[in-house]
Amino acid sequence: MGKKIIVAGLGHGGIAAAALLSKSGYDVTVYEKKAEGTLGYDWTDIFAPDAFAIAGIPMPDESKYTFKEDMMFFGPSVTRGYRQHVERNNLEIKMERRDIYEHLIKHAVKCGVKIEYNCEVKAPLLLGGRVVGIKTEKGDFYADLIIDACGMNSPVRCNLPSALGIEKEIARNEKITIYRAFYNKASDEEVEDKFKVMICTGGKTGVTWVASEDDFTDILIGRFEDFDINEVNAFTDYLRQSNPTLGTQVVRGGQFVEIPTRQPLAMMVADGYAAIGDSAFMTVPIIGSGIANSLKAARMLSDAVNADKDDLFTAETLWKYQYSYYRRLGSGLAPLANAKLLLLKLTNEEIDYIFESGMITEDNITIGADFTSYAKIHLEPQELITKAKLVCSDTVLLKKIIACGLSMARTIGMCAVIPPRYDPVKCRNWAKMYLKSFK
Ligand SMILES: Cc1cc2nc3c(=O)[nH]c(=O)nc-3n(C[C@H](O)[C@H](O)[C@H](O)COP(=O)(O)OP(=O)(O)OC[C@H]3O[C@@H](n4cnc5c(N)ncnc54)[C@H](O)[C@@H]3O)c2cc1C
Repeated sequence: MGKKIIVAGLGHGGIAAAALLSKSGYDVTVYEKKAEGTLGYDWTDIFAPDAFAIAGIPMPDESKYTFKEDMMFFGPSVTRGYRQHVERNNLEIKMERRDIYEHLIKHAVKCGVKIEYNCEVKAPLLLGGRVVGIKTEKGDFYADLIIDACGMNSPVRCNLPSALGIEKEIARNEKITIYRAFYNKASDEEVEDKFKVMICTGGKTGVTWVASEDDFTDILIGRFEDFDINEVNAFTDYLRQSNPTLGTQVVRGGQFVEIPTRQPLAMMVADGYAAIGDSAFMTVPIIGSGIANSLKAARMLSDAVNADKDDLFTAETLWKYQYSYYRRLGSGLAPLANAKLLLLKLTNEEIDYIFESGMITEDNITIGADFTSYAKIHLEPQELITKAKLVCSDTVLLKKIIACGLSMARTIGMCAVIPPRYDPVKCRNWAKMYLKSFK
C-alpha cells in the first residue's frame, strides 16, 4: 500500500476511481488541464442514480436533481411517435453538470485525493513496454499506475506505442458532434410531448431532442458529420414550426462538443495503464450517455487494483477490470454500436418505414431508466430479424436489418468469450476478432 497512482484528466470515472483507491490507502493525484471550478458544461445531464452507490459515493442532496420525463421517439418525418413507459422506481435523474462535478470532487478530496488543476497532460512516459508516468506542461510525473480519464481524445491513449494493441484514433462515424443550448420560452402554449427525441430528422443522420421545460427549451442536435452555427439556426427555425414554445434566444449553453458513440475499447489495459470513461469509449453508442457507466467502471477498476496484492499493476492484474467491465456493461453496450452502424446505413425513408410499419413497439423503445445496454432497450438480434421478416416488404431494407442482427449476434458472442484471465496472445486475438464485428 501507499503506492502512487496518477489519474490523467478529471473525468467522471477517473475521479470516482481516485476516491475509491485513495480510501484503500493509495497515494492518488489527479492532473487536470482546466482551472478549479470551471469543469463541466452549462447544462444538465441525465443518468442512472444507482451509479453513485456502486461507486461508493453518497447520493447528492435531493435539491440538486429532478427525475427525467419519459421520452417520445419519432422517425425523420415525425409522423408516428412511441412513448417510453419507464417504471417510476427506475427513473434516471437530471442534474446540472457542474453540480455533478462538484459532488464527485468534494467526495474525492474528502477521501484524500490530491488534484493539480491547470496542468495539461501531453503524453504518457514509457519504460520498456510499461507506462510509468505522464509528461505534462509542468514537468514529468511518475507513478506505479496511470489511470487515463482524459476523455475521447486522450493524449495518453493516443500516444501509446502501437505494440500495446490499444486503439488510438477514433473514426468519424465513431463519434457524434453535438450542439446543445437552452432557448428562451416563446409562448405559454401547453406542450403535449415534453421530451421529444427525433431520429435523423431534417435530412441529417443523427439524433435531435427538444425538451420543453417550464422556463426554457433544451435543444440537443447530434450529427455524425461536422456542422456549424448557420445550420443550427436554420434547423432550429425548422423545429420552431412544430414547437411554438421554442424561442430564438440562447439563454444557456450554445456549444459544439463531441461524444464517442462506438464500442468500448478492445484493450483497456496495459502494464501500468488503465483507461476509463470516454477515454475507453464507455458511452452508450447511439445516444452517448457515459456518466453512469464511467462511475460503475470506477468500482470495477478499484476492485482489480485492490485484488493486486503485490501492486504489480500489469496488464495481467488489470485485465480483471476489463473482464468485469465487459461482463457487466460492455457486453450490453457493444451490440448497440452495431445498431448505430445500421442507423448510418439507412435512408430516411427506411427509418420512417421502421417507425410506421409496426416493426418496433413502445416496448422496444422503452429505453429503461438505466439506458446502458441492448438488453435494457429490449433489442434482441433474433427478435429484430424475425420481426423484420414479418413486416418488411422492402428487400434492401430487410437485408440491412438482417446483416445488423447477425453482426449484433456476433458481437454478443464475442463478448461472451472474452478471456477470463490475461494471456497476451489470447487477449490480442480476442480484441482483433471483437473489432471485426464492427467492420
Ligand atoms: C453535450 C454532451 C451531453 C452529454 N449528456 C450526457 C448525459 O445526459 N448523460 C450521460 O450519462 N452522459 C452524457 N454525456 C457524456 C458524458 O459527458 C461522458 O460520457 C462522461 O462524462 C464520461 O466522460 P469522461 O468524464 O471520461 O471524459 P470527459 O468528460 O471528456 O472528461 C475528461 C476530463 O479530462 C480533462 N482533460 C482532457 N484532456 C486533458 C489533458 N490533456 N490534460 C489534462 N486534463 C485533460 C478534461 O478537461 C476533463 O475534465 C454528454 C456529453 C456531451 C458532450
